[in-house]
Amino acid sequence: MLALSINDIKVGVELADKNAVIHALAHWLEEDGHVASGYQAGMMAREAKAATYLGQGIAIPHGTQACRHLIQNTGIKVLHLPQGVEWGDGEKAYLVLGIAARSDEHLDLLKQLAKTLSQDNLQKRVMAITEPEQVLALLQDPAEPKEVGLPLVHIATELDAETLLQLTDHALELVSCSTQEQAQLRQAAPIHIGQGWWLSQTNACHGPSQAALVTANVHSPLLMQTPAVRGVLVLFVKGVGHKALLDQLLAWLAVKQGAALAALHSATALLDALEAGPAAYAQQRHSTEQIAVVRNTHGIHARPGAILVQIAKQFEAEVQVRNLEGDGQWMSAKSLMQMISLGAKRGHQLLFSASGADSEAAVSALVNGVKEGLGEALGEDLVEDVLAPEQATHEIQSQDEAQTKPITLEPNTELTGVAAAAGVAIGPVFVDVAVQFDYPQQGEDTVTEKAALAAAIEQACHDLSKAQAHSHDPQASDIIAMHQELLADPALSFGVNCRISQGQSAPAAWWSEINLAATRQANNKDALLAERAADIRDVGRRVMAILCDSPASIPPEHPYIWVAQEIGPSQLVNLDPQQVLGIVTVSGGAASHSAILAAALGIPALAGVNGAVMTIKNATHAILDGNRGCLTIAPDASIRQQAQAQQRQAKQAAARAWEERDLAAITQDKHRIDVAANLGGIKDASQVLASGGDGVGLLRTEFVFMSRRSAPDLASQTALYRPLFDALKGRPLLARTLDVGGDKPLPYWSSPKEDNPFLGVRGIRLCQQHPALLKTQIRALLMAANNRPVRIMFPMITDIAEWRWAKDRVNEIQAELNATQVELGIMIEVPAAALCAPVFAQEVDFFSIGTNDLTQYTMAVDRGNGELAYLGDGLHPSVLQLIKMTVEAAHQQGKWVGVCGELAADAQAVPILLGLGVDELSVSLARLPLVKSQIRQLSFAHCQWLAQQALVADDAAGVRRLMSQAEKGIAPDKEPG
Ligand code: PEP
Ligand code: MG
Repeated sequence: MLALSINDIKVGVELADKNAVIHALAHWLEEDGHVASGYQAGMMAREAKAATYLGQGIAIPHGTQACRHLIQNTGIKVLHLPQGVEWGDGEKAYLVLGIAARSDEHLDLLKQLAKTLSQDNLQKRVMAITEPEQVLALLQDPAEPKEVGLPLVHIATELDAETLLQLTDHALELVSCSTQEQAQLRQAAPIHIGQGWWLSQTNACHGPSQAALVTANVHSPLLMQTPAVRGVLVLFVKGVGHKALLDQLLAWLAVKQGAALAALHSATALLDALEAGPAAYAQQRHSTEQIAVVRNTHGIHARPGAILVQIAKQFEAEVQVRNLEGDGQWMSAKSLMQMISLGAKRGHQLLFSASGADSEAAVSALVNGVKEGLGEALGEDLVEDVLAPEQATHEIQSQDEAQTKPITLEPNTELTGVAAAAGVAIGPVFVDVAVQFDYPQQGEDTVTEKAALAAAIEQACHDLSKAQAHSHDPQASDIIAMHQELLADPALSFGVNCRISQGQSAPAAWWSEINLAATRQANNKDALLAERAADIRDVGRRVMAILCDSPASIPPEHPYIWVAQEIGPSQLVNLDPQQVLGIVTVSGGAASHSAILAAALGIPALAGVNGAVMTIKNATHAILDGNRGCLTIAPDASIRQQAQAQQRQAKQAAARAWEERDLAAITQDKHRIDVAANLGGIKDASQVLASGGDGVGLLRTEFVFMSRRSAPDLASQTALYRPLFDALKGRPLLARTLDVGGDKPLPYWSSPKEDNPFLGVRGIRLCQQHPALLKTQIRALLMAANNRPVRIMFPMITDIAEWRWAKDRVNEIQAELNATQVELGIMIEVPAAALCAPVFAQEVDFFSIGTNDLTQYTMAVDRGNGELAYLGDGLHPSVLQLIKMTVEAAHQQGKWVGVCGELAADAQAVPILLGLGVDELSVSLARLPLVKSQIRQLSFAHCQWLAQQALVADDAAGVRRLMSQAEKGIAPDKEPG
């Protein structure tokens, strides 16, 4: 039957006469692609033969047989004319249906009309219509709801939502219905049908019946509510077809299995479960999960993907796979398209999960297939890009016994990674191969498994308490407390217990849930939050080691460089800094807890290193350079001596810098620079002056807004900012207004998902959408400052109008509070702002260059993309050109310029930034004394010369070469007298 939607209906239309109505309908049909031009004449011809008035105020104009060829596809358009128009024979039409029918699709509608016409008082109802929905209701059979087919069922699982309404909205995204239909559903009060399952239903359904079934993820706070919210069934119903689905759901609730049903992680599993019913499903489900690491050089591309699919198809079991390093989506292992879309690269972990009779065999075959390379040769290729076999002098060993084969490497091979904590370490490596946990998939009985899990969690908690008692580092204590919290997480234990109830063993259930939670965390768009996946895995392994009675790998007695796939923060908390010379990890980034802790402990660290590092033989000597971000394996004597000298110098320099931290940063030729601190919270405020800082050059105010459930009010913001001003004792505090949005969403603002969040609504753009929020923040800052010096700057400024808008907001509040000591500026993070710096410079008090973002936007390199880190170097001449333009524009107007991105603390960049004329560097507290000390040893004239050379270098590598030569005191050829 032809479905009529409200988009095909217009009410309250006023037209002069029948001709005008027919003209309007023909034009509308033509506009929507139903008819070609000329159809109007056909409609007129029909009316001339016989008027199409049906009765009771309804007319149905349509074309003649002769103009059928003009119909492109069947359509009906409806006009409601409250005044009515004469339709012939003294009859007035109020409701006019313009019909273009290629064949008989519209007949049902006409039949329905005929039925409708038999109702008493119809004309009165027709005349009284004010809403399109009333027209639709009129055209429906009031006596007997007609089912138009079984509902289409859309399912999505493990969704993030904080309210029942949000979860319902997720369901609404799945169905295709009009906004009015959605609005009507939202108005209907949801019914709790038991065990956390909710039903929202509407009969306002104009197309075929539809159903959407969604579940909340097991970590959602919704599960903690009373009553809980686990799942929502949304029904747009036409008749009774939805009943079967509802009955299926109720069958699970009847046997109290609603929670287990909601815990199923894939749409397929949920649908299977509903169809099978709780009893049959429990019997047929014989689920197995295993992880395999991709070893193919180019990952799972088409060829290995096809082999994987062939293996999966040999089994009856439904096999799904998820890339734990990817977006976490489950894919069918029997679909090549889906296998390729996993985006599995070398080193990625694939989690296979199967249910069905031969699930165990299927998963084993697939895991073995992946291990064996899915038809591609493995082995040396894991290290081919870093090792040269011909010049064999040292031996390395493979982590995987299956492919162990002595491989040789060239002396002085350098593996590069992300410099995660500064410093140089020299010593033998300890390659910490992750313990393989051995455990059965199926549990003995639910009670035994649950008891084993509870005991292991308790033991893990106890071990952590012991570690906390021995730890003197406040950061370490915080991390231990966080891990204890994770162990006590009710959502985690809920998920694990559900799995145990389904027959899994305690370790299998625990590990599955840990992997799930860690994957979800790793997929968080906020890099900082994504790094927390390491904490989850760390806690997970701790409990697994107890459950499986697997001792952790034993480090050597002597000092070593610790090499591991991933080092959990709790492992770092317990380490002895005398024993651990340095840390190298395959995963992680500079923002990981491990990196932060390593830096706090003064241990050099390198992250994101090629997986080949895991194949180095234990006790091989290496040099870890946490400044340059590289690991030199098997260095020869001369390289080792150089590194030792570098180490000694660094130690002496750090001690001297600390002693002289209160001296001003004035170059040899008397050029003064301010060196301020970057702060991301209030905790370290007291350290700014104690470290010799000239104030705070960047306060990242995000800390006030993140990890909250609602925006902080004026009082709480003022209370947070005030101690900062107190600690600075009159030195300036430069606060950056809220810089969230895009990749750093705030949990309490729902914003549409963006394809390119870094190019989306972030920084000032987001504040423009929420002006009240910016105004509260500014008011809080000015009130906390209480006429002590405060500088305020706005992030992500691209266009002058944004700056003017923000400045006006501050000026309003300034006038209101009579605040005088306020300087206003902008961050230069977008090339557009740097290029237009002369315009901005006339109006701002200062610029602060955010080189982290300026580099990402100039080089078109996502700053969180480890693979492209080599391109995202702020010393690239293009970035330096933009800095130069900014400084020149500012100085011409007598304004000052700071740099607050990471480049300001980079020893190779400091002389260039000085040479470009930057007036202030703002760096982390840890680097502050060192940067000041470095400046005191520089000659400004030489820095200016170096800057000129850097500006015309070919690339960032060329600039770094120039600086390395300058560091070594190699006199550049063209240096002026
Ligand atoms: C920058 O972009 O350089 C900067 C300091 O801001 P953030 O790193 O907070 O984006
Ligand atoms: Mg920035």
